[in-house]
Amino acid sequence: MTALNAVHECNFIGGKWSAPVEGGGFNAISPSTGEHIALIGNSDRHDARLAVKAAGAGHAELSKLTNWERAELCLNIATQMELRREKLANILSLEQGKPLHAEAFPEVDAAIDGFRQASEMVKWLEGEFIPAQTPGKRVISFRQARGVYGIITPWNFPFCIPVEYLAPCLATGNGVVWVPSPSTALCAIELMKCIELAGLPDGAINLVIGPGNTVGDEVVTNPGVHAIGLTGSPDTGNIVARRGAGKPMVLELGGNGPFIVLDDADLERAAAAAAFGCFFNAGQVCAASGRILTTKKTHNKMVDLLVSEAKKIRVGLPLLSETMMGSLHNETVVARVENQISDAISQGAQLASGGHRLDVAGGSGLFFEPTILANVSHDALANTAETFGPLAPVVLCEDENHMMEMANASGQGLAMAVFTSNISKAFRFGEQLQSGLVNINSPTCYWELHIPFGGYSGKQSGVGRVGGKHMLQEVTQVKTITFDIN
Ligand code: NAD
Repeated sequence: MTALNAVHECNFIGGKWSAPVEGGGFNAISPSTGEHIALIGNSDRHDARLAVKAAGAGHAELSKLTNWERAELCLNIATQMELRREKLANILSLEQGKPLHAEAFPEVDAAIDGFRQASEMVKWLEGEFIPAQTPGKRVISFRQARGVYGIITPWNFPFCIPVEYLAPCLATGNGVVWVPSPSTALCAIELMKCIELAGLPDGAINLVIGPGNTVGDEVVTNPGVHAIGLTGSPDTGNIVARRGAGKPMVLELGGNGPFIVLDDADLERAAAAAAFGCFFNAGQVCAASGRILTTKKTHNKMVDLLVSEAKKIRVGLPLLSETMMGSLHNETVVARVENQISDAISQGAQLASGGHRLDVAGGSGLFFEPTILANVSHDALANTAETFGPLAPVVLCEDENHMMEMANASGQGLAMAVFTSNISKAFRFGEQLQSGLVNINSPTCYWELHIPFGGYSGKQSGVGRVGGKHMLQEVTQVKTITFDIN
């Protein structure tokens, strides 16, 4: 599994595996061991252009099929993934760093379910018969694929996030060009091998491995790509929004979800949920609990409970069955966590637990302790900016109005959580928090694939909604046909 493996033919274009036109490659490195695990071809704009052309032809073929036939193809993909479940999970754990049993298998299962759900939902993508004012006119309107859909995905959930786009796109008949994060290219290649066996028309889906700012940018700007889906950071989202201006887009960007603990909350339940929200996938989750808002009444107790939750987490090599948290994905993430911790401490926060890199036998230098900070200043980066790492900053607020103000003052509005035993307060916060998703008495990162998910308008967390029928709407457009029967 860890032997150096050369994957020159890393692109899947027009139904065939091919090496990038210009040659050249990069080393895939396991974040948890530091080992080189593969040498992978590195593409450029030329390869992306070939993929766009192939996707145009693929779209033409896919659109000849009925929704039922494309649903069957999605089911075939799910079956092929199921057959390779073990391999997919191992590669995910090796290349991304998440624990095999606790998180990689569940992610693979959720991705398989994504294709199954799209296969069910596309059958009910119904149109309308619209009564006309003019005698003899008949009007129908229905949803059609957008055409060629460019999909650009990050490294934190290398199966689940792509499938949020791929499954609805293919089910509705879009030709796809997919550009995954290069640091999880092996996951993309393995998923593509499953899709290859499902019997899709050539060109229906094309994979190009290469840097976002060239290969991704070509997909965003190429006139042969009609719509774009990007999951990534707000900075990348802003670039893509400008470079692809005028194209329909789904942008799923960053979050800094407050986890709000009202005074009447069940604190033990809240602490368990907050710890999950902070440490699941080592905190590298857009819907992570970015900061925990408390009052004087709950602050100290929450800190104590969070410390005991953090102590239960076994950090270690991701392939070991007992591991609950693996390594972080790269040095940039670790450096950002360290910077936020020192910044918070310099502004008066106390380190209640963790705070340092962990030496794991046989591991790389990217392991980090689950960390709890108490009394975090309102101006500290740990409160104001996305961490994307295993940090639980506990922040003191005056009262619940202050919590609402602080949550809504954020530039992010993706996923927030509120813990309370008062139904009226639950509704007040649910309705007034400026966030695409508000979870009452659940972690910020509670979500299921068919539930609408995305950023609140006016914030920096993105536009559009992934999830179930909402995603089917995003990847399709309304077509109207009128008939004169006079
Ligand atoms: P990133 O923005 O660095 O990269 C995301 C993807 O964009 C990668 O495939 C990258 O190669 C590509 N890219 C980079 N520059 C590009 C450009 N100029 N043009 C086109 N594509 C380009 O993000 P990341 O570090 O991989 O992921 C972490 C970020 O993603 C965090 O901010 C996190 O909150 C966010 N995220 C959001 C969601 C969500 O659903 N809202 C889910 C997961 C991650």
